[in-house]
Amino acid sequence: MSDIKKKVNIDDKLFLNTYIADTASHLIIKDEGVCANCVEKNCTKFCPAGVYQYKDYKIVVGFEGCLECGACRIACPHDNIDWNYPRGGFGVQFRLA
Ligand code: SF4
Ligand code: SF4
Repeated sequence: MSDIKKKVNIDDKLFLNTYIADTASHLIIKDEGVCANCVEKNCTKFCPAGVYQYKDYKIVVGFEGCLECGACRIACPHDNIDWNYPRGGFGVQFRLA
């Protein structure tokens, strides 16, 4: 198979990244009650890094693995995510291979 036809494995790509995690999240759920009543739960579907998990009737935000792509900010139909970049010196470092 030629290189151009090779499938990209997202897990392999994510494995190359390194992360410097802050102690506080840069992704804040504005109102947990809105999430509890949110039918779509788009944040659990669109995030390429699986940062949002719905557990025990709450959205859990694993901000440490965020790729800073901004998709969740756009995908939340209730504008319920206070989205910021991590503080300087923190966040993802991409490695291309
Ligand atoms: S899509 Fe928005 S409102 Fe719905 S669960 Fe996710 S963060 Fe909460
Ligand atoms: S910015 Fe991208 S990677 Fe980070 S939580 Fe939102 S969708 Fe996931």
